[in-house]
Amino acid sequence: MSQATNGFRRSIGAHEGAVELDGVRHTLRRRTAGSPAKSGHSLMEADDLILVTGAGGFIGGHLVAELKKRGFGRIRAVDHKPVNEWHQVTPDVEVIRADLREAKSCRHVTGQVAWVFNMAADMGGMGFIETNKAACMLSVLINTNLLVAALDNGARRFFFSSSACVYNAAKQARADVTALREEDAYPALPEDGYGWEKLFSERMCRHFTEDFGLTTRVARYHNVYGPLGTWDGGREKAPAAICRKVAQAKLSGTSAIQIWGDGEQTRSFTYIDDCVEGTLRIFESASADPLNLGSAELVSVNQLVTMIEAIAGVRLERSYDLDAPKGVRGRNSDNTRIEAALGWAPTTALQDGLEHTYAWIYDQLKSGQPQAATAARTLVDMSRRHKIAEDPSLVLLPGRRLGSLAVDPA
Ligand code: NAD
Repeated sequence: MSQATNGFRRSIGAHEGAVELDGVRHTLRRRTAGSPAKSGHSLMEADDLILVTGAGGFIGGHLVAELKKRGFGRIRAVDHKPVNEWHQVTPDVEVIRADLREAKSCRHVTGQVAWVFNMAADMGGMGFIETNKAACMLSVLINTNLLVAALDNGARRFFFSSSACVYNAAKQARADVTALREEDAYPALPEDGYGWEKLFSERMCRHFTEDFGLTTRVARYHNVYGPLGTWDGGREKAPAAICRKVAQAKLSGTSAIQIWGDGEQTRSFTYIDDCVEGTLRIFESASADPLNLGSAELVSVNQLVTMIEAIAGVRLERSYDLDAPKGVRGRNSDNTRIEAALGWAPTTALQDGLEHTYAWIYDQLKSGQPQAATAARTLVDMSRRHKIAEDPSLVLLPGRRLGSLAVDPA
């Protein structure tokens, strides 16, 4: 990483600035307020160029598919994974493989783009984020460089996928947690690593709006799950991990399941269809402040296991790994603000979402095709003390190697 990439130097007054990234100087001028909706439901026109980053992942992949389904004809889907590892690839979409921590990649992919959905992040469930804090925080480069490039290239609106991990840990210390309202993110005590990056990037969106007039929208996702999500390899979250364990037990005829923690920790889980619908609604809304996008149906992990066992038609013997990563004790979404802003909130019952998810994961397992171990592709591998993985597949935009991300080798 060059010194220029590292530094974000603003040199002019309150509403105008200049930054230097990868040796290129950008003048950031304040714009007039974002354009109002043209008509009816959609702010976006059918032939506007829409950028979805992280499109090879779970939510980005579903968002691209939904945008296409709704008739948007020009979609640019970007991810740094090889395309054969994308969770889904929608036909007739422009596909670009690029490392968006690089400013040049961000400039390239935002060219001519009207609307930006940033779904790219190095992330996973508790098993990943508790042991890859630096890697999670490096996603700040993605959002930083994308914001600058979006502004520079004249994008009209920018969406950032934040997380319930921004919330103050002290407000999540009990299993019978009071649902989290948006203001509970402050005073700041977010999830270490991943949550700090999300909170910082949320604030950067806000200041790009205040200082430069780039319209931004932020959703705080609460535990999203569903078909085509990560269910294996170390980055999976609780619903997918438990569906996989139950399906494995069923397929192998064993009767044991191991649960992380004592199983009394509580969460709400948001079905992917609600996540995509809410993302588009928040994007088009007038709500400049971050909004919760989460189910308010609170369950313990033990209850989640019971529901999935019932769907699978098995009862398993539970053992508890009390030393495994567990995250906060309780977390739920207060949907007062999203309901007021949009007249809408997630509606899919956990039972329904789990039925679809379990069926999909069971089929994946039965077909004998384990999901690519995305954890193995972690670019900055903490266990190897920050050494960059020397994977020749990490050649990104033509002629550029990821090795230019110079994290100090130990
Ligand atoms: P995902 O891991 O399935 O997708 C993220 C995608 O970003 C991956 O395909 C990955 O390859 C890509 N990516 C990572 N680094 C990149 C880089 N440097 N350049 C280009 N692409 C890169 O995760 P997801 O569940 O689809 O999450 C999407 C967004 O929503 C993320 O910002 C995530 O932090 C946020 N979020 C998700 C959840 C959830 O429960 N899934 C909860 C809260 C927030």
